Amino acid sequence: MKRTRVTVTCADCSMESTHEKLSDARVVLDDHESTTDHDVTWEIEALAAGVTRAGADAGVCGRPECANADSPLVDPPRPDTSKGRDER
Ligand SMILES: [Zn+2]
Repeated sequence: MKRTRVTVTCADCSMESTHEKLSDARVVLDDHESTTDHDVTWEIEALAAGVTRAGADAGVCGRPECANADSPLVDPPRPDTSKGRDER
């Protein structure tokens, strides 16, 4: 599952808002621009479910393999016994 997050930010004031729908973000963007004549931009991110939390925990890239990247001694490389029969 993926979610979309749209962050609307204004270059001319501290206005900032986050939306899950592009249409909502566009309304805010247009409204702020038309009422204040500020320079408003948006940033669209596609988020895979769980990546945000995992990324925060790991502080790296959110992939489980990276979770212990800073402590390799905790999880040393294992002999690849699980694939011993997968000969080609
Ligand atoms: Zn503004």
